[in-house]
Amino acid sequence: MRPLIAGNWKMNGLSADAQKVEKLIEAFDGAMPEKIDVLICPPATLLAQLAAAYQDEAVQFGGQDCHAAPSGAHTGDVSAEMLADIGAAFVIVGHSERRGDYGESDAIVKAKAEAALRAGLAPIICVGETEAERDAGEAEAVVARQLEGSLPAADKGKTEIVIAYEPVWAIGTGRTPTGGEIKAMHAAIRRIVGDRCRILYGGSVKPGNAAEILKLTDVDGALVGGASLKAADFATIIRAA
Ligand code: PEP
Repeated sequence: MRPLIAGNWKMNGLSADAQKVEKLIEAFDGAMPEKIDVLICPPATLLAQLAAAYQDEAVQFGGQDCHAAPSGAHTGDVSAEMLADIGAAFVIVGHSERRGDYGESDAIVKAKAEAALRAGLAPIICVGETEAERDAGEAEAVVARQLEGSLPAADKGKTEIVIAYEPVWAIGTGRTPTGGEIKAMHAAIRRIVGDRCRILYGGSVKPGNAAEILKLTDVDGALVGGASLKAADFATIIRAA
C-alpha cells in the first residue's frame, strides 16, 4: 500500500509556524516525494491558509477533529463540510486526547467518521489501548471493540478510511511497543478491516525509530505528533517511509 505519513500538530502553531511547511519542502530540495502521501494536520486556524498556499505541492492537509453534524448550533465546533470547504482531504477522529479529555465514545467517533465520509474527507480513525489494558493482556480485545464501535456503517467504499493504531501510553511519552507488539496489533486490525484501509502506527515515532517501525508488515505509515513540529525530524521520518 502507498505509505501515508501524517503529522498531527495538535494545539501548536501560530501564523509564523506556517513556514514549517516551507522548511519541510526545502528539506526535499523543493520537490516532495511522489511515492508516498504526506499529510499535515495543523490547528484549524491555519488550515485554510496552508491548504491554499501549498495546493500545488505534494503535501495534503487535514483537520484534527470534526463535529458529526454538517452545521448548526454547536458553538466552537467545526464540521467536516467546513474542513472540506477550506481544502482539507483528511480528518483525524477519535484521537485518544479527545476520547480522554472529552469522553468521546466509540459511537461519537463513528458519527464523526461518517460525517467525514459524507463530506468527502478520509477519516483517520484512532484506536489504542491504555497501559493498564495492555498489562492486563486486553490490548487486542480493546482495539477490536473500539474498531467495531467506531467504523462507519455506511462505507460505500468511495472514500478512503484510515486506521491509526496509537497505544495511549506511547503518545508523547518516548515509549513505544516492541516491533513484535506493533506487528501483532496491526495484523489483528488487518483481520478486521481487510485491505481497504491503510493502518498507521502512532505513538512516539521519531527520526531514530521510524525506519524500524515503518518496515513492519501491515504498517502502512505513521501518525506523528511531537516530531512533526520540527521540519527536519518530520523530513527524516518521511524519508524512512
Ligand atoms: C499523536 O498525538 O497522535 C502522537 C502520535 O503523538 P507523539 O508522536 O508525540 O507521541
